[in-house]
Amino acid sequence: GAKSLGRNNYQVYASNVDTSQQQQNELKSRLRHAVRNGELRVFYQPQVNTVSEDIVGMEALVRWEHPGLGMISPAFFIPLAETTGLIVAIGEWVLRHACEQARLWQDRYGLGLRLGVNLSAVQLMQPGLVGEVATILRETGLDPSLLELEVTESISVKTVPHLEDTLQALHALGCGIAIDDFGTGAASLDYLRRLPAGRIKIDQSFVRNIGVDPDDEAIVRSTIEMAHRLKREVVAEGVEVEEHLQFLRAQGCDELQGYLFCRPLPTPTFEKLLAERQRIVGDRLPAVTA
Ligand code: C2E
Ligand code: MG
Ligand code: MG
Ligand code: MG
Repeated sequence: GAKSLGRNNYQVYASNVDTSQQQQNELKSRLRHAVRNGELRVFYQPQVNTVSEDIVGMEALVRWEHPGLGMISPAFFIPLAETTGLIVAIGEWVLRHACEQARLWQDRYGLGLRLGVNLSAVQLMQPGLVGEVATILRETGLDPSLLELEVTESISVKTVPHLEDTLQALHALGCGIAIDDFGTGAASLDYLRRLPAGRIKIDQSFVRNIGVDPDDEAIVRSTIEMAHRLKREVVAEGVEVEEHLQFLRAQGCDELQGYLFCRPLPTPTFEKLLAERQRIVGDRLPAVTA
């Protein structure tokens, strides 16, 4: 089962990142060179079908391997990248790199895995974004239907001009749109109603409280029901323990992502997982040609 995906502790971050103003400024100027110097890494975290526990997708999650400080978490450097505008170059790099990788895995293993890539509000404000995504899809040859762009719910329809049009245009390229961190923003329902999102990702702050807080359980249950009534699919994020899995399965949640199954993995480790999975399902699926 997917639980043998492993409990590898790949997510060890530099714990000594000093966040003094001076250090932040230094990191900003280092970050400016990080893309060019090849210091960014993309890790991949599997998303599994709730019933079969088969891998159905993966989320690309960026890390910064700083030569002196080690692996730095995106939770730390993405905000820095957003205030400096560097997120535009970083986001483009991540998208291209992850699409290339997904295309390669599709050719090699033919599993039709979906690739989720996060988009920042700053990227969504760039007039060139849609053209850039189209170019990356064309140049990497990834089937657009395998790409799903994740837009966090904290992005406001008001602060990002033309958000709906931009997402419609991205959707028209053939990619999927997912609403990330669902339930944490102020406009969940408005988002569901207005945006061309086929999937929502229930935020881990709710999932964490399954078995702990009946209110959060009620929110998770209602969110799944509402999403299904609106013909959207649901992924639960931050699934860490068996109790979360059982609850989400009972509620009919479509897919799960979390440490219970697997942490985000570096490319070679994720590929081993795919090779293993292909061996397992190889008997059941027709042979795939690239
Ligand atoms: P996110 O898009 O909501 O991604 C899910 C986060 O939850 C990831 O954190 C993942 O490692 C973590 N996670 C997965 N399963 C579990 C679990 O069972 N328990 C817990 N506690 N956490 C779990 P990560 O990789 O540190 O990324 C944090 C955030 O940084 C992401 O949240 C996303 O908002 C942002 N981010 C990451 N990569 C990119 C990127 O390429 N571009 C942009 N714009 N943002 C990114
Ligand atoms: Mg995400
Ligand atoms: Mg999230
Ligand atoms: Mg997020």
